[in-house]
Amino acid sequence: MILIKNASPFDVLIDGPTIKKVGKIAQTAEETIDAKGLVVVPGLIDMHVHFREPGREDKETIATGAAAAVAGGFTSVAVMANSGRVCDDAVGVVYVKAKSREANLANVFPVGAVTKGLRGEELAELGKMSEAGAVAFSDDGMPILNSELMRRALEYAKMFGKPILSHCEDATLTKGFVMHEGEVSQRLGLRGYPAAAEAIMAARDCALAELTGGHVHLCHVSAAATVEVVRQAKKKGVRVTAEASPHHLMLTDEALERYESKYKMNPPLRAREDVEAVVKGVADGTIDAIASDHAPHTAEEKEQELAACPNGVVGLETTLGVVLSIRKIPFKRAIDAMTAAPARILGLKGKGVLKPGADADLTLIDPKARWKPDPTAFKSKSRCTPFDEMTLTGRAAHVIVGGRVCT
Ligand SMILES: [Zn+2]
Ligand SMILES: [Zn+2]
Repeated sequence: MILIKNASPFDVLIDGPTIKKVGKIAQTAEETIDAKGLVVVPGLIDMHVHFREPGREDKETIATGAAAAVAGGFTSVAVMANSGRVCDDAVGVVYVKAKSREANLANVFPVGAVTKGLRGEELAELGKMSEAGAVAFSDDGMPILNSELMRRALEYAKMFGKPILSHCEDATLTKGFVMHEGEVSQRLGLRGYPAAAEAIMAARDCALAELTGGHVHLCHVSAAATVEVVRQAKKKGVRVTAEASPHHLMLTDEALERYESKYKMNPPLRAREDVEAVVKGVADGTIDAIASDHAPHTAEEKEQELAACPNGVVGLETTLGVVLSIRKIPFKRAIDAMTAAPARILGLKGKGVLKPGADADLTLIDPKARWKPDPTAFKSKSRCTPFDEMTLTGRAAHVIVGGRVCT
């Protein structure tokens, strides 16, 4: 048994892989963690990460990704299907689960592809992947442009009680984009991705969720217009949930004035009014979850010139500090967005809650710690982060996964 003592808001007693008691606890245990000054919360869940195994282990493996998760305070992650070998069948799902067990760090939950090979042509075997343990389906990295296919995906996924995680991008409007389309892109002469290209697909997905009764979850909402689409759809009772990524909550397209690839991602950093709308959406719960969209690439790839380098930055080891540093998002809501909300969206039983009988996945947070991310110390194989020059407030002090103290 492990006793977490003096934590806010209560002590926690862990028995094996399960939480036994919460509250004021008088008894002793074999192991005691003195958590004075720390806040104990359910183990953080990042519902949107990219590990590159199998196929691109030079960028990230499931083991290095799971280590990065734990280092950042996350006890569970959901890994997207677009690795070197697309996870579009039961074998792919079983592989991720096996590698996660082997790494024995954070829980890594597989997301299966919606379409075979992410080609957007033919539905993958959603039923078999669901049976094998896929927690959701997504072609993330690629939008599903074919509306009829998206409709059928929502209908099928509904039969298995799973959400479709949608990368909303009308790709006909975003060809060759480097950054957000607006005043800054015009000034810099860089090709833009208009906010409308995201909002259009979000509106379509909400309309299809309404039509089918399926659950659509919108990934990495970055535009004010998209937040409004979600708000209106929720008002109508549509089964839509959404997530935002830390970089879209903290940074604007003005960062691109430095022409640095650590500011290049998909969707791109948006204008100030978009950032404010996304922050407000998270604060008021319109946007349910916060997810890093952790997207490791090799240094060589990211060192190419801006137009040529791939989209994406890592996030697992900075997300908690970034989110807790945003004052307009209350602490409780921030934690909910990284615990209960993703657990509910993905149907992860026993996770995202702190009560007797739940899984002993816990994160102990030092809310006052001031620190500067040091990419050279990252557990992730990739070092490319837009937050390396910032001082953040709040970080994980201890992480417990399944009753095992990992840090
Ligand atoms: Zn995406
Ligand atoms: Zn992604």
